Amino acid sequence: MSRVLVIGCGGVASVAIQKCCQVSEVFTELCIASRTKSKCDALAEKLEPVTKTKITTAQVDADDVQQLIRLIQEYKPELVMNIALPYQDLTIMDACLACGVNYMDTANYEPENIDDPKWREIYEKRCREEGFSAYFDYSWQWAYKKKFEEAGLTALLGCGFDPGVTQAYCAYAAKHEFDSIDTIDILDCNGGDHGYAFATNFNPEINLREVSAPGSYWEDGHWIEIPAMSIKRDYTFDQVGQKDMYLLHHEEIESLAKNFPDVKRIRFFMTFGQSYLDHMRCLEDVGMLGTAPIQYNGQEIVPIQFLKALLPDPASLGPRTKGKTNIGCIFTGTKDGQPKTYYIYNVCDHQECYREVGSQAISYTTGVPAMCGALMLLTGKWSRPGVYTVEEFDPDPFLDALDLYGLPRSESHAPALVD
Ligand code: NDP
Repeated sequence: MSRVLVIGCGGVASVAIQKCCQVSEVFTELCIASRTKSKCDALAEKLEPVTKTKITTAQVDADDVQQLIRLIQEYKPELVMNIALPYQDLTIMDACLACGVNYMDTANYEPENIDDPKWREIYEKRCREEGFSAYFDYSWQWAYKKKFEEAGLTALLGCGFDPGVTQAYCAYAAKHEFDSIDTIDILDCNGGDHGYAFATNFNPEINLREVSAPGSYWEDGHWIEIPAMSIKRDYTFDQVGQKDMYLLHHEEIESLAKNFPDVKRIRFFMTFGQSYLDHMRCLEDVGMLGTAPIQYNGQEIVPIQFLKALLPDPASLGPRTKGKTNIGCIFTGTKDGQPKTYYIYNVCDHQECYREVGSQAISYTTGVPAMCGALMLLTGKWSRPGVYTVEEFDPDPFLDALDLYGLPRSESHAPALVD
């Protein structure tokens, strides 16, 4: 029924592709295109004997709009799933518009070089006006809203777990559990252990940038920014146990604040072990997280890219990682005039993911929602011209699909709250 082009073939994409191939009646034809075609070929070869989906592969540099346009015109997909890196969001959106094709991704745009003066000028203005200093924000992609509306195309932004499922949980709470929501706490716990002193469980460059940035949260209609890792809480997570967690800036807070303007406070917490934090601080102090090129022995290198080459490939952590993730949202608010609390979350086991698709749970919890988001678009459940985040659509069919395809929800009507 549907022809889909997936761009990227890394940790998250390979899970999403495998899950698409489990739903061959919708994903009848798939083209896997990435910078390194050999990875696409290897995955296609692995999947061909076990799926009815017809898979082809292609090489593409997604930084180059003309290459993308050529590929899209040749393959003629109904949907482009961007599971490359956030750096490519805008070029892929441009190519989709030029070719009249729907778009989706799993993370909002940020530039590869944050020292680019043209980008920096806009960024610094946004920092002053909005009050948060993360390198990524939705403004770049929201600016495409009118163009997608006029073209009659849908762009679905940030359809992984967080962002992604966490926003569907918010839409579900607003639809079914509350008359009004006062606070939202998003809790992302990774209780997995891969046995390395230091490794990131998704793309190191994106992960380290996110974690080393100042934290921020939304309260009473504005952002409050705090030094990185300066708000710490502990929480006892279902099936994982007690963990330290830290308040981070996270992209879905921005869209949730816009789409749920009456919510008084929105925070995001992520768990980290002490070893991870010590290594990160040290790498930052010596300049290894830098994104501006430096000269070394007559050669130009970007410190964070060099670091990426040294660190374990996140895709290789699968066989080593044991334990579970627990990601969800805690709400306070009122229903029928009474105060109410509610917690909705998913628990995912690293080893079970590895047995099913050969990846650890971080790639799995992102790749499955990407497939389910694509399913919503291809089956017409979420089709609406414009640029949208997940909470703007009906959460019910999406959460049903997640229940079915590997990320079932759990809930509590009397959760411990985060102070
Ligand atoms: P990986 O680094 O494992 O994979 C990235 C893939 O994109 C690789 O196949 C890479 O190719 C390809 N790629 C990179 N640059 C280009 C380019 N210019 N042209 C074509 N292909 C390119 O990343 P992950 O799988 O860990 O992450 C994928 C996305 O998922 C990221 O945007 C990340 O931010 C997002 N994410 C979202 C989460 C959520 O919950 N919403 C959670 C985790 C991740 P090559 O092999 O040649 O390098």
